[in-house]
Amino acid sequence: MLERYPKYYRSFVCLAGDCTDTCCAGWDVLVDEETAARYAAMEGDLGRRVRASLRIDQDGDCVISMVAGKCPLLTQAGLCSVQLAHGHDALCRVCREFPRLRQDYETFVEHGLSLACPAAAALILNSTDDGWDEAGTLEAAAVEYDVDLLKRLQQTREPLLALLRDESRPVGESLALALLYAYAVQDAIDGEDFVFDPAQELAALPQPQKRDFTGMIDFHRKLEILTDRWAEKLSRAGGLGPWPKETRALAAYYVNRHWLQAISDRDPVWRIKQMLAACLMARVFPGADEIALYSKEVEHDSDNVDRIWEAADSDPAWSDLALLDWLRFKED
Ligand code: SF4
Repeated sequence: MLERYPKYYRSFVCLAGDCTDTCCAGWDVLVDEETAARYAAMEGDLGRRVRASLRIDQDGDCVISMVAGKCPLLTQAGLCSVQLAHGHDALCRVCREFPRLRQDYETFVEHGLSLACPAAAALILNSTDDGWDEAGTLEAAAVEYDVDLLKRLQQTREPLLALLRDESRPVGESLALALLYAYAVQDAIDGEDFVFDPAQELAALPQPQKRDFTGMIDFHRKLEILTDRWAEKLSRAGGLGPWPKETRALAAYYVNRHWLQAISDRDPVWRIKQMLAACLMARVFPGADEIALYSKEVEHDSDNVDRIWEAADSDPAWSDLALLDWLRFKED
């Protein structure tokens, strides 16, 4: 199997007790069946504490339930009691693997790190190389998705990353071009010719207008909110500030992680809109820790992702015109 890793992947080191936003807080942790069986048999006081922390959620899954927003198995020093007593292999799959992500395309696998982890976010947002380290060879396997579509997405991902990394343009213009590029790719997927000339695309746009960002903030206020920290930030959100220095790397992360997944719904445009919203929200909440928090609250919450997918072509805050204005308007 061909395994692909982002260049920064092997530099990841967990911050453990020094983490500013432990992954053991804010969200219930899914416990796989094999681990649940081990936890059921775990002896002693720790076994009793582990079992007391488990519940069945609304989807019928076994989860470790947070207490006051935190995993009840954390020690005072912020370390995991299960890992301390029984080692890393005793953890459930989610805790063993986080923040490592794995996207299986049946003939190859793309690995990644979750932006929701502050240590991973620091690596991702400082990265300037969107290439991959590779090991193994492509698997000759029959696949269930449209192979031609995957090829098209692969062929269009690199030029898209190059557009986003092109510092000869202002960052907002690069992001606006990413949206226009996604529409050109969408047209090609729908059977039309692929036509994309950046200069002509920009020249065809109306002059950007100053536009209030409240609609987008309000959209985020209505999403599922996991942590008090995020609720508090949203409650006092201001308007758009300058582009954070990490914006191009942030955009590249979303593209590398999500673009190919359009094989599931043949819709690359909403994925780019999701990326644009993350970049715009980083203008309201700048800094690597805030960008990681946004990822945890929005990118990693499947209900919230569904809401974005629904909003992307129906909510006025997600209209092309609104996004393009926020991306391109410059204050005097
Ligand atoms: S969020 Fe990342 S750095 Fe923090 S405890 Fe979890 S894996 Fe470690």
